[in-house]
Amino acid sequence: MSGILHIAGLGPGDDALVTPEVTEALAQATDVIGYIPYVARVAPRDGLTLHPSDNRVELDRATHALQLAQAGARVVVVSSGDPGVFAMASAVFEAVEREPAFESVDIRVLPGITAMLAAAARLGAPLGHDFCAINLSDNLKPWAMVEHRLRMAARADFAMAFYNPRSKSRPHQFAEALDILRAECGPDRLITFARAVTTPEEAFNTVTLGEATPEMADMRTVVIVGNSATRRVGRYVYTPRSAV
Ligand code: SAH
Repeated sequence: MSGILHIAGLGPGDDALVTPEVTEALAQATDVIGYIPYVARVAPRDGLTLHPSDNRVELDRATHALQLAQAGARVVVVSSGDPGVFAMASAVFEAVEREPAFESVDIRVLPGITAMLAAAARLGAPLGHDFCAINLSDNLKPWAMVEHRLRMAARADFAMAFYNPRSKSRPHQFAEALDILRAECGPDRLITFARAVTTPEEAFNTVTLGEATPEMADMRTVVIVGNSATRRVGRYVYTPRSAV
């Protein structure tokens, strides 16, 4: 029997934002693999084995998933949001690159709604012109690279979405990121802290960079900084599509 490996995005939290394609893959699955809180979003049923694992073991998790699929299982690796955005899809392909025998596994990536798009939709249209997404965690890259990319993105006048803005293990870096943004963009630029978007704990806070403090973000927050034209209209925040 030939197995299959789906790498699926569960969206930002609300079940209504899980795509029908992902729901179908989960209904057909024999095994679901992923970080504990994401696997917890999948309902247990007969014939389905859930394999929750701790964070930071992405490669082990990916290898496990590939082995199960190679042995004939229908495996779904779950991520929150989209699996290609700072998530499991790259880890799976990295595991394939390390072990060429995995190249025979049928792998399909099923997109999901990523946090910045769910947050932007709630806000209005802050990402309506050119924008970029930056992961502020320095687990997998040096902090100097994060700083450089922040500066360059701000100078290029991109709107910006920041994932993994702040954690207990690196409390000072987000303060440094805010200092860089204030230096490059000035104090009046709009910044939104969008927390736990589409979950019951959802909270939004739009302020200026001058008013922003590091404590406004945590690991459940995606941060959106506008470009120089981003503004409020009524209770919404939007970026015009035209830069002229
Ligand atoms: N693959 C995910 C991102 C994983 S990185 C996606 O596409 O959304 C984890 C980071 O995503 C968190 O630190 C936070 O910055 C962001 N995030 C994920 N879900 C979120 C949500 N519901 N609300 C706000 N931010 C979220």
